[in-house]
Amino acid sequence: MSSSVALRLPSIDGLLRHPACAPLAERYGRDSLLTGLRQLLDELRPDVLSGQLAAVEIGPEVLAGRVGERLAQQQRSQVRRVFNLTGTVLHTNLGRALLPEEAIEAVQTAARYPLNLEFDLASGKRGDRDDLIEGLIRELTGAEAVTVVNNNAAAVLLTLNSLGARKEGIISRGELIEIGGAFRIPDIMARAGVRLHEVGTTNRTHARDYEAAIGPRSGLIMRVHASNYSIEGFTARVATAELAELAHAHGLPLLEDLGSGSLLDLTRWGLPAEPTVRQALLDGADIVTFSGDKLLGGPQAGLIVGRKELIAKIKKNPLKRALRVDKLTLSALEAVLGLYRDPDRLAERLPSLRLLTRPQADIHAQAVRLQPLLADVLGEVWQVSAVEALGMIGSGSQPVARLPSAALCCRPQVSKRWRGRYLLNLEAALRGLPTPVLGRIDADALWLDLRQLDDEPGWLAQLPQLQVDR
Ligand SMILES: *Cc1c(COP(=O)(O)O)cnc(C)c1O
Repeated sequence: MSSSVALRLPSIDGLLRHPACAPLAERYGRDSLLTGLRQLLDELRPDVLSGQLAAVEIGPEVLAGRVGERLAQQQRSQVRRVFNLTGTVLHTNLGRALLPEEAIEAVQTAARYPLNLEFDLASGKRGDRDDLIEGLIRELTGAEAVTVVNNNAAAVLLTLNSLGARKEGIISRGELIEIGGAFRIPDIMARAGVRLHEVGTTNRTHARDYEAAIGPRSGLIMRVHASNYSIEGFTARVATAELAELAHAHGLPLLEDLGSGSLLDLTRWGLPAEPTVRQALLDGADIVTFSGDKLLGGPQAGLIVGRKELIAKIKKNPLKRALRVDKLTLSALEAVLGLYRDPDRLAERLPSLRLLTRPQADIHAQAVRLQPLLADVLGEVWQVSAVEALGMIGSGSQPVARLPSAALCCRPQVSKRWRGRYLLNLEAALRGLPTPVLGRIDADALWLDLRQLDDEPGWLAQLPQLQVDR
């Protein structure tokens, strides 16, 4: 280090003793302050050496101010609440389903106190965590037995590995899907040790295709609900009941990955039909897997339900231990499932269902109410209108179905060449709010779909802070 630098940059000790740093030590602790100061001085040293910084820029007050900002930034949680105004309700990147109050309370209790996670209170002996929710899931699905793991990807992996390792898994070419985040059925099969035996074609697979594939090496037949895409036109797929009959005639289990897997018929709330878990089991699927945080509206989890002896085999797999759920998840899941016992009140109590079924007129009225307020904040350059919009369920449920919704549509009144930049700047400004607001850019406009704007006062309160770059 050259002597001129030591002369010009204040010493760490001097800074630590400086009155401007005292409140920082008090607030963030001396060690954090020390680390912050060291980092800052290290970063500034080259510029000081090359003479690019003036003396005032490295004065103790200025340095304390900069370190203070940094420490505040570091202390702020990286996990941030956001407003999801994207129009996609179960948004995988934004945490999917929101939990009902009952589940939040259950999570708090589980977090705060010891609990009977693996302890049978009746006998005083060791218990099994799945037992805590088995009865409820059996009641709601008609399954013989149940086990729960970290997510549906884990459920598929564990099931395949438990029932089909070193054997062939027969699956239609139309069901070799990829789910966001690099979950690909062929890859999962390979990692589960199951040899992929694909049958049929992308658009059409017949019972005879499955039948021709069955042989001495067959271990299972798998069916995957093509949740995030749709094949239309000249298509054919074998009904689950027929496929189950075929599988059972050859002594093979039929696995069905339902993806979202609803527990109730959603058409009763005017939503698109989604296969129910109960129906898949009634049709003869031996094992059905589905997510906890998609249409079910609960915590991230993977539910595996079906025949007793197969579930027993799955539970014996050492991988089960690696993929199991924790006490917080189990507690939340039990509370959410409990709400399903009273379907009549489910849409009021389960946030995801409440949001999915929110009437368009209601959302539109909210858009009309908020339009002048946003227009006022954005100023003349932006045309803000309350319009009808189409949202999505998300998480791969019903990729083609659209939810009639309403949005604030923001269009920059500038020449075409500048529009893109204005839109990106507005998007960034909304993201930069204390509680980031996430919309979507489409067709030369930024859309804020209001279906999920529950906390209108909170959203409005931060609007004055919106600063859009030009
Ligand atoms: C979403 C989905 C998965 C993965 O479920 P996660 O709970 O996200 O792990 C697997 N299969 C299908 C068909 C899906 O739709």
